[in-house]
Amino acid sequence: MMNDLPNGFTGFAGVNREEFESAADASRRQRGEDPAAEPAARGSFQYARDLDSGRRVETELPFAKQDIDEINPLDLRWAWVEVDLSAIRHNVAETRKFLQSRSRLLAVVKADAYGHGSVQVAKAALGAGADRLAVATVPEGIKLRKAGITAPIMLLAQPPATSIPALLGYNIVPTVYEPDFAVAYGEAADLRGMKAPYHLAVNTGMNRIGVRFDEAVEFLHQVSFHRALELDGVFTHYATADCPETLDFSIQSNRFADAIESIRAAGFDPGVVHSANSASIYRYPNVHYDMVRLGVSLYGLHPCPETRDLVDLRPAMSVHARITDTRFVPMSEGVSYGLHYRSPGSVKICTVPIGYADGLRRGLSGNTDFILGGRYYRQVGNICMDQCMFEVDMRSYGTRERIDPQVGDEVIIVGTQGIAEVTLDEMAEKLGTIHYELACGFGQRMDRIYV
Ligand SMILES: *Cc1c(COP(=O)(O)O)cnc(C)c1O
Repeated sequence: MMNDLPNGFTGFAGVNREEFESAADASRRQRGEDPAAEPAARGSFQYARDLDSGRRVETELPFAKQDIDEINPLDLRWAWVEVDLSAIRHNVAETRKFLQSRSRLLAVVKADAYGHGSVQVAKAALGAGADRLAVATVPEGIKLRKAGITAPIMLLAQPPATSIPALLGYNIVPTVYEPDFAVAYGEAADLRGMKAPYHLAVNTGMNRIGVRFDEAVEFLHQVSFHRALELDGVFTHYATADCPETLDFSIQSNRFADAIESIRAAGFDPGVVHSANSASIYRYPNVHYDMVRLGVSLYGLHPCPETRDLVDLRPAMSVHARITDTRFVPMSEGVSYGLHYRSPGSVKICTVPIGYADGLRRGLSGNTDFILGGRYYRQVGNICMDQCMFEVDMRSYGTRERIDPQVGDEVIIVGTQGIAEVTLDEMAEKLGTIHYELACGFGQRMDRIYV
């Protein structure tokens, strides 16, 4: 073992590597061995790295690869996200009730379905009656195609022109607003005898992307000479659909209505006209047009308080972990980086293997509750990258049953158990952000389990 010390090893406190090795040699000499000879045991420790050459040493796995690959992800790591696909289906069905029969439903599954897993969510949404899918990037679209999804996929942005072969090859319909992109796209399609369908983005006031509402007709005149280009749809996006005031919204929706009217008046067929995101689907039925774009509410999240009374949504995501360590911390000793939290002495401090690299934002340190056995417990100390702690008061109060947490016990970080509930909404409120961002964050590293 002694010769297997890492190369950078500098010795235990006060003992440098040389002294340490000569101590080992001395003990060999005592046993009558030659300290210069290769130690007999050495060969069995070459699994990681040959110390002299620094090369990796190939050996067989000690278990069958299949047995390792088949270990349940929950047995590899005690922190995970659960996604309830029946909630996704429920939210599609509830949203459908708001739509006229001519309105199609496009499920927005960008950003890995807001952290819920795009392939599984796309399949569930399509199965529940969604007509189309939308993503934000070309790789997101390719991922869905490679998973065998054949439904129409639109891109909510205009990608780099260099991605055009991928758009045509994978049948991903882009958003377009630049004539140069339109022509390059049309030409690439024409060369292969294909059509180049696209959605025209109209900027009605959000000022993010698109052709300005009063320049849409001009754009169409500019590109319409191209025979392969096909206007599949025209859309806009609202900046304030989720805001209490409605004036800015109506300015945008009026501009969009005008743009569509002038497109038709100029003799162009706008194709599928769409403008509504989640908030406007429930709040403004007059802007549904031919299709609505269901994003955050597909996942059961309310875009704003105003929609709470309008539609019954079910959150699909919950976040879980198991306790990996428990300890009594003496009174006034600190916990976690900075030791900002101090033990009151009567608490058991429990550790769970989830941290800010999993989306549990560090800004929530000391300011969120975990659920264990249907009760709330306060998260304490700074949230670390991969772990964090919570406290369980071990005194019993009145009729309240004492709970003694153990390693392996399940904790809910986001979700419901009994009457206890922690929502992404309240976490977002505490952080001064929106639940969209938190859902995406929880999708980063943890395995997802579909129930
Ligand atoms: C993300 C996005 C949506 C979905 O918005 P939600 O508020 O999540 O419903 C719709 N349209 C566009 C253009 C988007 O970028």
